Amino acid sequence: MTLRLLNTYGRKLQKFVPLKKNLVGMYTCGPTVWDYAHIGNFRTYVFQDVLRRYLKFKGYKVTQVTNITDVDDKTIRQSRETGVTLREYTKRYEEAYLADLAALNIERAEYYPRATEHIEQMVALANKLIRKGFGYEAEGSAYFDISKFKPYGRLSGARIRELKAGARVDSDEYGKDEARDFVLWKSWRPEDGDVFWETAIGKGRPGWHIECSAMSMKYLGSTFDIHSGGEDLIFPHHENEIAQSEAATGKRFVRFWLHSGMLLVAGRKMAKSSGNFFTLRDLLFKGHDPLAVRYLLMSAHYRAQLNFTEEALADAEKAVEALRGTWRRVKNVDTTNKQDNTQLRKLLSKEEREFERAMDDDLNTPRALAAVHRSARAVNRAMDQGEVSMKDAAAIPMFFSHLDKVLGILGEQMKTQELPEEAERLIRERDQARATKDWATADRLRKELLAMGIVVEDTPAGTVWKRKSQ
Ligand SMILES: [Zn+2]
Repeated sequence: MTLRLLNTYGRKLQKFVPLKKNLVGMYTCGPTVWDYAHIGNFRTYVFQDVLRRYLKFKGYKVTQVTNITDVDDKTIRQSRETGVTLREYTKRYEEAYLADLAALNIERAEYYPRATEHIEQMVALANKLIRKGFGYEAEGSAYFDISKFKPYGRLSGARIRELKAGARVDSDEYGKDEARDFVLWKSWRPEDGDVFWETAIGKGRPGWHIECSAMSMKYLGSTFDIHSGGEDLIFPHHENEIAQSEAATGKRFVRFWLHSGMLLVAGRKMAKSSGNFFTLRDLLFKGHDPLAVRYLLMSAHYRAQLNFTEEALADAEKAVEALRGTWRRVKNVDTTNKQDNTQLRKLLSKEEREFERAMDDDLNTPRALAAVHRSARAVNRAMDQGEVSMKDAAAIPMFFSHLDKVLGILGEQMKTQELPEEAERLIRERDQARATKDWATADRLRKELLAMGIVVEDTPAGTVWKRKSQ
């Protein structure tokens, strides 16, 4: 069975075959660590994790690179306003991001390169573009001349005819009707304070787009298999990445572009002002199970729009609990029945094939989840009727674990996961607060940990912790 994926580049369903036999190079656009990520971001991260896990399920070895954008207008402004260095400021949100990934049972990527640690590669790329005539300097900054790159706009279908030659844009994010020369390197301005690099291209800092081109090619080579992100990144971010990379190397940059759809909250676009804006912490703080959040985020096809409501989350919680219930029940089932239930075992193999067919079809998770639920119901019926032998009872958990390698919702492998660094720090701070009888601080820290999906208990032997979903 072959995996087919819808390539945004060309908008066609294509057979996925990696460039190098059995090795997949994948770049996933990561967070700008200026604040906590919201659940719309996590929808994309869960989709990327399911993709990663499914590639491994198919037998591929995956090298995933996720950038940490730790320098941009927002991080600079916020760090200056709060009076800390840029690194101190971004470190906190980088740790929070990694802790949130762990709570959602998202596997770690192989590399998390920070933008501030790859300035050299970005400057080299910008200089190469200038040398080759694709870039030019103006007022101390460097820009990419989109009129020189003929295929510009192919990924997004942007209305390139409307472009005015030489019109420049300095900000990293801009709308589709503003397609114009974008910034590769920004010259220093007084509001940047002490955030700048003295380089061959001048004193300043990189633009956002060049980060991803420079870091993806450093870790994955000039051409790699998969690049993905939310659909809001198609233009300008990914369009600009293609232009910079292909203009510099003369080679195709990415073979498969995959984009996830928008997340609406209660039918509307998420906005802080309309009160429907959630971080993962907000949801966990209310007592929701992080793996139910994960389930809900993968319950729609990744490219479809997903409407996030509290009712849908409650349903997801029930669905996950039902699967765990079956799982627990099988482990303790009475196996006095001597005869193996061949009918059940046949049904499970059939559903396993259906699961794989669904996932092969551009990662159709709703169809794959339906196969898992049908299997669980059949297993429950067999147990109700006492038709489960010892051999069946050993095979059934293996069936569910196998599929859960892709889904990651049973919480089974989470026991072996390490505690995120941020949680470790909070536990230490809480121990100190308890030692000085500062109960208010200890309680606040307990709640913060709970919001990360970690329950702490005080025992005579010290503090112990566990994940909320277990
Ligand atoms: Zn990116």
